[in-house]
Amino acid sequence: MSTQTRSFQAEVRQLLDIVIHSLYSRKEIFLRELISNASDAIDRAQYEGLTDKTLVADAPVWEIGLRVDKAARTLTIEDNGIGLDAAGIESCLGTIARSGTKVFVEAAKAKSGANAPESIGQFGVGFYSAFMVADKVTVDSLARGAGAKPVQWWSAGDGVYTVADSARTTPGTAVTLHLREGMDEFLEEWRIRELVKQHSDFIAYPIRFTDAAKPLAVAPAPVNTMRALWKRAKSEIKDAEYKEFYQHLAHDRHDPLKTIHIVAEGAVEFRALLFLPPEPTFDMLMPAVGNRRHGLHLYVRNVFIGSDFDALLPEYLRFVRGVVESGDLPLNVSREMLQDDAVIRKIRSNLVAKVLATLTEMLRDEPEAYRKFFRSFGRILKEGFHFDPDHADKLKELALFPSANTEGEGLLSLRQYRDAMPSKQQEIYYLLAESLETARQSPQLEAVKKHGGDVLFFVDPIDAWVAEEAGEYDGCKFRAIDQGDLDLGSPEEQSEAKKQREVVDKSLRPLLDLMREKLSGDVSAVRPSARLTDSPCCLVAATGRLNPAMERMLRAMNQEVPKELRILEVNPTHPLLARMQKMFAADRNDPRLADFVELLHGEALLAEGAAPRDPRKFTKLVADLMTRAV
Ligand code: ADP
Repeated sequence: MSTQTRSFQAEVRQLLDIVIHSLYSRKEIFLRELISNASDAIDRAQYEGLTDKTLVADAPVWEIGLRVDKAARTLTIEDNGIGLDAAGIESCLGTIARSGTKVFVEAAKAKSGANAPESIGQFGVGFYSAFMVADKVTVDSLARGAGAKPVQWWSAGDGVYTVADSARTTPGTAVTLHLREGMDEFLEEWRIRELVKQHSDFIAYPIRFTDAAKPLAVAPAPVNTMRALWKRAKSEIKDAEYKEFYQHLAHDRHDPLKTIHIVAEGAVEFRALLFLPPEPTFDMLMPAVGNRRHGLHLYVRNVFIGSDFDALLPEYLRFVRGVVESGDLPLNVSREMLQDDAVIRKIRSNLVAKVLATLTEMLRDEPEAYRKFFRSFGRILKEGFHFDPDHADKLKELALFPSANTEGEGLLSLRQYRDAMPSKQQEIYYLLAESLETARQSPQLEAVKKHGGDVLFFVDPIDAWVAEEAGEYDGCKFRAIDQGDLDLGSPEEQSEAKKQREVVDKSLRPLLDLMREKLSGDVSAVRPSARLTDSPCCLVAATGRLNPAMERMLRAMNQEVPKELRILEVNPTHPLLARMQKMFAADRNDPRLADFVELLHGEALLAEGAAPRDPRKFTKLVADLMTRAV
């Protein structure tokens, strides 16, 4: 191959720019990233070698080597893993920006970007962290398998990289960092030892200092202990070890919120070490990057099988990080097999039960920690209402919601809501709205509040599902307060109120009919309201019809939804109604009546965060009204 110099794709250039110029103080994370890549490369060689023996014809002793050359100011990280060929090197380290590149650049530019270089591993672009400490990086690689040609790649991170032939003779990869001025600490063996112990102790292969003159096999004892934490007795493990392991696994610098260590010895034997992260990591927020690469890590008899199996946990628990190991699975498991493997199904149901039980305990014993968890992952967890009806009862205990009587960021469980319900109230009231602010402003809340009740706010898009699937809780049905008739109080009070409304309806009927006529095509009926105390009007859905928040949500999901005509409810005790009635009695053709109807309807729409049906006309009417008022 001739030597070829090419430009990085624009996004990779931007990424390098951020990595090189970031003032981030913890530059040492580059070592963790490169060792993790070396370990991944060995994982793959070992796994693929199970089915393709030619890849492991040299009977390798898997290991990772570290080499320091003080005179040349270089640090080399070497592995005997799967290796890269010219095409691989090009696509992995060159022009083709992987999905994570763009997301990393965006995250780094955003406010949260201060920590971006450290979390670079979460984006699947950890290799480039090498440029934080090196002004030139050279990669020499020989791919495993017959006929592969060694290839060299280097770059000074200045926008271009070069690919050429390499002199490498053994399969695997060596990454050599030419350290920048001021990075001398990474030439010190003690410092590197310290970092390996701190961040890479759990790597399953020995990490050794090697000498270029000596082959790997005669090198000294490994720096890391290779402790598979999940295989040790729980009683022997220190809290700090769990934390370090989580940080290593999740490329996170925070401590896990919760650690779950499972040793199952029943019909199916397995061990698992699961973590709840303290907050979403970047890859969780951006599914394109996630690609489930950071799902649970599956080991079968010490061989790492993969971390992208969605069969181990349902989607709605995708925030869980961790490791699962079982001897009851065949080594050559494939994704397809996993989907309907009986052993996997048992492991999965055990993991789900354990995670949900842990969350339930947290809610009971550490309510603050649980609320923190729920603010981060509640939306994801609530997907379970739709996808895992078998666990609906558990999920109902775990779901939290803001409510009309809860201040600020406060959240209520259904249990708390139920316990606080006035004795006359038979149903659990909720309001679907697009945001918490809209919900708090809603005129629909007035009557419920007057009766001493509370209303749960369903403001996450996913809550539309909760409303639909939850059915009931502790004998109480869920009830959308902006739908159908809403009568509150004792049965006697209700029938009394109904009677009164009928009387009012009768006396206002001609005016209400005129209103409906003016709004034909937008509302199906106009009637006196039992919901309102202060506001003049609101819109409600007919019983069994689609709620407007739901309608908008479905539209946002590109579903065809027919336009639902709703009912305009007016507050007969509001002075405005009395004025309109007077106007109507004097002259039923008074042109101001039509304007008032338009304004009332627009107001009802604005109250739920929607726009008036004709915004221009609406603003003109308001302006006219103000002009006349002064
Ligand atoms: P990630 O490892 O998260 O995919 P990186 O930017 O660290 O992202 O690495 C990019 C890709 O380069 C890897 O996915 C892998 O295919 C390849 N790679 C990196 N280091 C090695 C290595 N030591 N051996 C083989 N391939 C490697």
